[in-house]
Amino acid sequence: MTTTETCYNNDIVQRFARLSGKERLAHAYLFVGPYDIGKGETAVAVAKLVNCEDPQANMFCDRCPSCIKIKSGNHPDIVLIDKGYSESIKIEDIRGILDQNRLRPYLARKKVFILRNIENLTPEAANAFLKTLEEPSPDSLLLLTTSVPEKNLDTIRSRCHAIYISSASSGQLTDLLCKEYDIDRNGAHFLAYFAEGCLGTARKLMARKFFEQKNELIDDFILRRPDDASVKSLLADKMRTREWLDVCLSWMRDVFVIKAGVADHRIIHADRQQDLAVFQKRFSFQELAALNQSVVKMRQMFMDNLNIKIPLLIIGEQLWEN
Ligand SMILES: [Zn+2]
Repeated sequence: MTTTETCYNNDIVQRFARLSGKERLAHAYLFVGPYDIGKGETAVAVAKLVNCEDPQANMFCDRCPSCIKIKSGNHPDIVLIDKGYSESIKIEDIRGILDQNRLRPYLARKKVFILRNIENLTPEAANAFLKTLEEPSPDSLLLLTTSVPEKNLDTIRSRCHAIYISSASSGQLTDLLCKEYDIDRNGAHFLAYFAEGCLGTARKLMARKFFEQKNELIDDFILRRPDDASVKSLLADKMRTREWLDVCLSWMRDVFVIKAGVADHRIIHADRQQDLAVFQKRFSFQELAALNQSVVKMRQMFMDNLNIKIPLLIIGEQLWEN
């Protein structure tokens, strides 16, 4: 399964399908939304949609020669410029768009130019690009993306239709992860929570098996007393320490929820209900509040680059069962 197949925003592609059906597509669109939300993938899906050769397909078929060429990045009429989140887009990078915009499509119904992260256009490239926007060609569609709309030239923004892509709700993302990946509901629910509804982030967490890792962190540093060497190795790895702190905070949150008897669907670590139930019995509400406060403070110290070994051991005295 390639990334572009699953990461696009279905609602937005549907919207394009309706516009395209009524022949009401504009010349240029700007997809605005947070990092890793699937803006580029949505643009690729729209390119498939406007060129799909299967008249029966709801949006696009993903099987016809056009869809296959787009999927593999080999379609001569679909130009994708993606230089990442921080690299400048120079005039020579967009030369292909500037030149090809005037030509008729070679194979496609519509040429599609996808330009990602346009906040990184150099002023020279942005001005050259404006010309393309001012001379719309009926055979071409421009799809631009940005995560920082305020950094873009007003002149570019005002010539594009803005399409806002927001995070999915945690429930929507859970459903999507269950449907598209070989993952159980508890795992999907946890990842959706940790990724804050962002599909791209959830996919990255999945790729590095974060669901399995969080359970190791719970087993080794919340439920059991770790030995000195383990504490040392945890603290030596900044990313792992941060993740442990975040897992610990989400664990404390669940413990409160369970102790208060709130409905099960709100539990983040739904796969660990049994352990949560046992854990919460060891503490009063007051003790839990104090423990939670200590973890919050420790996380703040960590973010301020302070050494958290001592606070960790002090909190551990309450956290770890003897
Ligand atoms: Zn197709």
